[in-house]
Amino acid sequence: MSTLEARLKSVIRDVPNFPKDGIVFKDITPVLARPDLLQEITDHYAARYAGKVDAVVGMESRGFIFGAPIALKLGAAFVPARKPGKLPYERISEEYALEYGTARLDMHIDAILPGQRVLIVDDLIATGGTAVATAKLVERLGGTVVAMAFVIELGFLPGRDAVAPHAVDSIVLY
Ligand code: AMP
Repeated sequence: MSTLEARLKSVIRDVPNFPKDGIVFKDITPVLARPDLLQEITDHYAARYAGKVDAVVGMESRGFIFGAPIALKLGAAFVPARKPGKLPYERISEEYALEYGTARLDMHIDAILPGQRVLIVDDLIATGGTAVATAKLVERLGGTVVAMAFVIELGFLPGRDAVAPHAVDSIVLY
């Protein structure tokens, strides 16, 4: 049987020039149509981080899809890091640079308790800006980032260096 990486690569769809010219968008929706693959991703990360994390933070929106089942299987809390204007309670925010302009992620002030060990989960790491902002939110609340786990890593971009000293874990490398 082929590796999980090979099986994921066979279904991840490249969409050129989305959302803008020059970007090749890695579309993971065909992975979501395969419950066996979503299960394997969940099992892979749950096995690697069993007993090592208290909370899983997922970034809106695709980080929710992969993060929530991993948290469930780990018996850990799931915490959403959300785009502006979505969280109803008191929150902290981190702005980060995009190629043009800035973006922001918010977290509820009681989402992470001091001393909690946190796994950050998203579908893909590109420049690492989203992951760095998320790590800052976790650390401002007193949490410790154990690792950052992604389904896909774009190895031709400097994401891994950008998030250092945090460790990057990925399954599919392009
Ligand atoms: P970055 O902050 O540059 O690491 O970008 C990561 C975030 O943007 C993740 O939430 C991804 O879902 C999304 N993203 C960036 N580049 C791509 C791409 N080529 N295909 C799909 N999603 C992407």
